[in-house]
Amino acid sequence: MTAGRLDILREWMVAQNLDAFVVSSAANVRYLTGFSGEGMLVVDQGVTLCTDGRYTVQAAQEAPWVDVAADGGGHIANVAARLMDDGVARTGFEADVLSYSSYQKLVQQTKGIELVATCGIVREHRACKDRDEIALIRRAASIADDAFATLRAELQPGISEREAALELHHLMVRGGADRCSFETIIAAGPNGAKPHAQPGPRELAEGDLVVVDWGARVEGYCSDCTRTIAIGAPDERRREVWRAVWEAQQAALALAGPGVACRAVDAAARELLAERDLAEHFGHGVGHGVGLEVHEKPTLSASSEDELRPGMVVTIEPGVYIEGWGGVRLEELILITEAGSEALTHAGYDL
Ligand code: ZN
Ligand code: ZN
Repeated sequence: MTAGRLDILREWMVAQNLDAFVVSSAANVRYLTGFSGEGMLVVDQGVTLCTDGRYTVQAAQEAPWVDVAADGGGHIANVAARLMDDGVARTGFEADVLSYSSYQKLVQQTKGIELVATCGIVREHRACKDRDEIALIRRAASIADDAFATLRAELQPGISEREAALELHHLMVRGGADRCSFETIIAAGPNGAKPHAQPGPRELAEGDLVVVDWGARVEGYCSDCTRTIAIGAPDERRREVWRAVWEAQQAALALAGPGVACRAVDAAARELLAERDLAEHFGHGVGHGVGLEVHEKPTLSASSEDELRPGMVVTIEPGVYIEGWGGVRLEELILITEAGSEALTHAGYDL
């Protein structure tokens, strides 16, 4: 499943005149090898997973084809030893992931080897998903959909945000998820004004809008979805704002497709909210890529330089957040296809 991914990395290494590459991002290690524990990877003529005794059994199970270096002394010491043993002259490393102290250790332990700083290379390769990855994200999204449908029927005045979040977590794990793909957001009433609110003791009350942002993880792959629902009958203003966010989302979804600039998708939603005098309350980008990490490439924002390509899995999630009043966010997870896009989440949109 991961073999072609190393070929792409090695092609890039040849073009950069690198005879080795050190991978320290956990998501990148998993992407390239399937190994889900802690460790670093040295990719040169071979592939060596530099880890420790806690993970040797797991490495043999998840990535039986890689060499494992798990001697005492730490991951960096194992990386350095492999680079020296293999006679590497010039190696790349992930400057946006490796800590400064780890970098210093690597410099000390690899005398004579040129260390070349690189940023976001494997992350960039991860932006377009292959068939196996799409299947896992689809499964995660479907588990999340089912869990939400069950939760929704149980939500009523008196249940706290925290209890509801815990219930959603249980439902997803019982449905087959590894775990939540991030800490579930359940923000009722005024708490909805905080886009990344943490579920607290507040109880759901009649007339509240409740922002629910949740996802399941399956074999490392995430889903990400948001719905905003009403407890009882929402007032006119709440209906209006909800409708405006839904229209903004539909405008962005209609535009999203291969070859489209991510900033244009963001603008489509933002313009619609501006027509309703709500743009000032939309303080984040309209979406992001989703995969082994819940936030990854591409970025869908006003300043993004990214372009949508087939195989990308991204969210479209405009929101309106008004201090003291609350918030509305609607988030769809979509796959960019050759023809346009396809929804991966199927939770209903009714308020
Ligand atoms: Zn989300
Ligand atoms: Zn999101």
